[in-house]
Amino acid sequence: MLIRTLLNHVEKQKSFVYDKVRIQEYDEGPKIEVEIRPRENSRARCSGCGAVCPGYDTLGVRRFEYVPLWAIPVFFLYAMRRVNCADCGVKVEEVPWATGKHHHTRAYSRFLAKWAQRLSWSEAALVFGTTWNRVYDAVRWVVSYGREHQDLSGVTAIGVDEISYKKGQNYLTVVYQINQGSRRLLWAGIDRTEKTLKGFFSWLGKERSDRVEYVCSDMWKPYLNVIRDMAKNALNVLDRYHIMANMNKAIDETRRKEVQRLKEQGYEPVLTKSRWCLLKRCHNLTSKQTARLKELLAYNLRTVKAYVMKEDFHRFWEYIYPRNAEKFLDDWCQRAMYSRIEPMKDVARSLRRHKELILNYFRARKEINAGVVEGFNNKIKTTTKKSYGFRVPEVLIIALYHDLGALPWPPATHEF
Ligand SMILES: [Zn+2]
Repeated sequence: MLIRTLLNHVEKQKSFVYDKVRIQEYDEGPKIEVEIRPRENSRARCSGCGAVCPGYDTLGVRRFEYVPLWAIPVFFLYAMRRVNCADCGVKVEEVPWATGKHHHTRAYSRFLAKWAQRLSWSEAALVFGTTWNRVYDAVRWVVSYGREHQDLSGVTAIGVDEISYKKGQNYLTVVYQINQGSRRLLWAGIDRTEKTLKGFFSWLGKERSDRVEYVCSDMWKPYLNVIRDMAKNALNVLDRYHIMANMNKAIDETRRKEVQRLKEQGYEPVLTKSRWCLLKRCHNLTSKQTARLKELLAYNLRTVKAYVMKEDFHRFWEYIYPRNAEKFLDDWCQRAMYSRIEPMKDVARSLRRHKELILNYFRARKEINAGVVEGFNNKIKTTTKKSYGFRVPEVLIIALYHDLGALPWPPATHEF
């Protein structure tokens, strides 16, 4: 079977024909070259407006890389025509297999971008004999198509989170849609300031922002301010995931201080290797960790007390009615204030300060599932790892859109 037949099968061109096909030997290896010419009597279209226009002249032959065949690179060779467009002036023609000034076909970009979701970008480049930059271009093109064509109509519940990259010194703000049945990354921006989050709302537009009913977030002040001002009709819910994460931080700090104190007083280090069993929920512990925890509970330690307080707090989320939840919260905070454990007192202070927003969890609980934000947070870590080595945050943002944006793909005549 001829390669031409194959090409006409997977990517038939209406106004162009596949002409001669050859294998050409180069220093770096063989390449399959496919000449393309315009169909008899077909006229070129302007790349500015898409209209059929009178011809102007023909440029030199351009090469467009296509999907490799049996690991041999494939190139389309075509001499681009220029048109004299009434509206745009002299313009190069539009061709269906490539966009703009790109030297690669849409099909190949789509192909690389698909693999870049499964492999790291450098792996994808290695496997298909191309460069990291080429993969990046492909992903960027697919992402920008998807961002232009995505449907934002049903966005009524969103989650705002911050993620750190480069060893925690830098932040991105990320916003997810968390509606039942439609969960995706909507937007990511550099830093975690008020200005950053305002960027999201102006991207979403005022009309759509007004339609947002629920916003899940952590207690980060700049976020709370912007949500209050820009999502006027929304209930801001402080989510369970972030509150429990704060509590874990408090336990960690208590433990660190106590280890220090015990060392200074010359006690044997009962708290070493206890970190994980204190941070995990008790039913997630391994049997070894359970034994360790039992051992720890025998001591009258601050860390143990803090741990018991955290475990107790899990009951809070089980309440159905906001009023009962509020009573529990008040009691818990009071006990924490009497505990003489500074980090836990800090937690209690911040819970009190944000009480109304925390109680919104019970007002909204039928509508949103705060676990979604946590799920996304974990997926982001995978993407960040996969794209390890990105030097600029802009690239990381594109990778995140690509992996988590659930974006529509550019149309194709064939799935490779
Ligand atoms: Zn035109």
